[in-house]
Amino acid sequence: MAKDDLECSFCGRKKPETNLLIAGLDAHICDKCIEQAHGIVLEESKQGQDGELSADLMLSKPKKIKAFLDDYIIGQEDTKKVMSVAVYNHYKRLLQPKNDDDIEIQKSNIIMVGETGTGKTLMAKTISKMLNVPLAIVDATVLTEAGYVGEDVEGILTKLLQAADYNVEKAQHGIVFIDEIDKIARKSDNPSITRDVSGEGVQQALLKLLEGTTVNVPPKGGRKHPDQKFIEIDTENILFIAGGAFDGIERNISKRLNMQAVGFSASKSEDNIERTNLLRYIIPKDLKDYGLIPEIIGRLPALTYMNPLDKETLRAILTEPKNAIIKQYKKLFEMDNIKFEITDEALDHIVTQAIEYKLGARGLRSLCEAILTDAMFELPESNVKKLKVTREYVEDKLDKSGITKLKKVS
Ligand code: ADP
Repeated sequence: MAKDDLECSFCGRKKPETNLLIAGLDAHICDKCIEQAHGIVLEESKQGQDGELSADLMLSKPKKIKAFLDDYIIGQEDTKKVMSVAVYNHYKRLLQPKNDDDIEIQKSNIIMVGETGTGKTLMAKTISKMLNVPLAIVDATVLTEAGYVGEDVEGILTKLLQAADYNVEKAQHGIVFIDEIDKIARKSDNPSITRDVSGEGVQQALLKLLEGTTVNVPPKGGRKHPDQKFIEIDTENILFIAGGAFDGIERNISKRLNMQAVGFSASKSEDNIERTNLLRYIIPKDLKDYGLIPEIIGRLPALTYMNPLDKETLRAILTEPKNAIIKQYKKLFEMDNIKFEITDEALDHIVTQAIEYKLGARGLRSLCEAILTDAMFELPESNVKKLKVTREYVEDKLDKSGITKLKKVS
């Protein structure tokens, strides 16, 4: 057959009518048909993603979930385990065939108790990254009952909808992280005297979402857009993760443990209880004594705690996670063909400063910025091809930066 007689086996165009004709074993395809086929492939795969949960979820067994968390989060072993099981069960629940039998698996929403900066948000973010589901992070402190100044509880779902690019199906399988849940604890034991706007009312409103309900959600949020059409969201399959510092809850735990110890056996004295991290002994009753209503606690059945970050953990956070801060700087310098090195002593010094300034893990980044801004400003246009950060370099830069003033203030 002459070259010009060749034709596309799909649309029949002759070779001269095409820009490109690709030969297969027994057939040819032209550029137009390739484009069209590509469009179909994209459309098909998008439908797969938007509809039912992806098959990947099925494969993520708890150990695999934990291994993923390990890549990004240092330590916090107990929480990672609880989280992996809860997330696994949650999505197993979603995948179970309807009307299978009478056993209805309940939602396994999670509550994490631990100081600020110990990685609670990171935990929720990492889970959502792994599952590729939308995540809304909301602060419980701004929530109020409908009709009061502040954000309505429905605003949470607006955020989730936005995180899901307004794909309702996706939003309904998403994750909501509610930070500072301890701030909506009931302030007094007698709620009937005055209406507790910021506390119990919000807990009641939140409860409905946790239980699973259909909510009319203003897609643009709040009261600024009164004319918008509401979008209906079913919260039944949304995974809620709550976090809070619960300042002072150790006192409740220790009191309870002492009482138990006395009632139990005389030998189990207070000394036997590890005082450094009483949170590891936390039980739902402690949350109730703190001021969360029992119904809320019941809807957050996976209770876990975060360890405070010690020196070793902070040191590891700097260098070990997949997107560790130091790895990020290395990459940034590499893009300018600059080899970046930092000595162990320098890293130790940064960690010591973070502890001294009480900045925790969040402070590591600010410290690194203070140390490296000069270099990042100067070096890209210089002939320097290597930066070695020593302890002296760190001390010098920190002395010159404003960050050391923090110490004097606090
Ligand atoms: P929280 O929500 O408990 O206040 P975050 O998750 O916001 O704390 O943590 C603040 C920052 O500290 C995170 O961005 C993360 O970089 C770092 N961080 C905290 N804990 C860890 C950890 N265990 N592993 C790795 N990074 C951590």
